[in-house]
Amino acid sequence: MTGAHRTVDPLVAELSAACGGQVIADASLAGLTTLRVGGRARVLVTAETDADLVAVSRAGRDHGVGWAVIGRGSNLLISDAGWPGIAVTLGRGFRGVTVDGGRVQVGAAEPLPSLAVTVADAGLSGFAWACAVPGTLGGAVRMNAGAHGGEMVDHLVEVEVVRLATATRESWPVGALGLTYRHSELPDDAVVVAATLELRPGDAAEVREQIAGIRAWRRAHQPLNEPNCGSVFTNPPGDSAGRLIDAAGGKGLRVGNAEVSQRHANFIVTRPGATATDVHRLIEQVRARVRAAAGIELVAEVTLLGGFEPPQDTGPAGVGDGARPAGADPW
Ligand SMILES: Cc1cc2nc3c(=O)[nH]c(=O)nc-3n(C[C@H](O)[C@H](O)[C@H](O)COP(=O)(O)OP(=O)(O)OC[C@H]3O[C@@H](n4cnc5c(N)ncnc54)[C@H](O)[C@@H]3O)c2cc1C
Repeated sequence: MTGAHRTVDPLVAELSAACGGQVIADASLAGLTTLRVGGRARVLVTAETDADLVAVSRAGRDHGVGWAVIGRGSNLLISDAGWPGIAVTLGRGFRGVTVDGGRVQVGAAEPLPSLAVTVADAGLSGFAWACAVPGTLGGAVRMNAGAHGGEMVDHLVEVEVVRLATATRESWPVGALGLTYRHSELPDDAVVVAATLELRPGDAAEVREQIAGIRAWRRAHQPLNEPNCGSVFTNPPGDSAGRLIDAAGGKGLRVGNAEVSQRHANFIVTRPGATATDVHRLIEQVRARVRAAAGIELVAEVTLLGGFEPPQDTGPAGVGDGARPAGADPW
């Protein structure tokens, strides 16, 4: 053999040898998120089986690097510096829905919108709200996702997780998950791999009509044709983050190629060329505006992954159309 040879990252070599699912070195993560910004992971594994997750667990421990679980990336802001360890996402091996009466077994990679339609077609009701949440079941459990008066905690019976710290599979009853408004107490190393839901019988045609209504409402009120991550902030008790941001003149505020949506003040949309830093700085500007205008500290709903600069005093921001009255947010 002549000349130089490329050095293979030993972490990648170990994962490639051990995993049945796809392993990509130095993987771009932006396309795995709905905001479409962010850097690269040292390695990205698409796990197809529990054995792949066990391999991820072992490799992380062998090489002293952390894990980050990515679902549909619809509530995720990944830093421009990316993730220095193993990013893991669940592949088709973790999809699937089985309906038995009101009991529904679901794989964690199942998209919530298609799950909502599947259970509606099976004549089950109460889950129509999920048609508009573009995440996976696993991400929805972690976030206790909810909308239009429903949330995951209302339907979950139990959740199956694989713990990356110990490479063990565990069953968690819903009461142990600590599910509150857009929050769970699941440990960081717990990868949700499946869940059991309990739904009540209903009329399929009626539920399909509800789904159509919810989709129409979303199209009318949210910037669905631009990259975004849904609600950036949780609603403070008794108020709506969108109303507060609007009243503080936040609509249209811009940093680089990230902008507070003109259509819904609690959405940030990204334009071509936007960076995660743009989005993060804009989040801090919006937070500072609402703090100054209303004395309320907004709490981020979007999950941050990787390193971000600490909040700075960004000075006075550009002016939005703060006079517009807010509409009610039904979620
Ligand atoms: C247009 C739009 C509308 C939205 N509307 C709503 C809404 O009405 N209500 C609402 O609640 N949310 C909404 N969201 C936000 C988002 O869809 C939800 O939070 C969703 O549950 C996130 O799921 P995900 O698979 O995309 O998770 P990701 O964004 O990939 O990850 C979110 C968090 O969950 C963790 N995670 C992901 N998968 C797993 C897993 N298998 N096991 C363990 N942890 C995991 C991640 O590590 C991260 O901490 C919206 C987003 C968009 C873009």
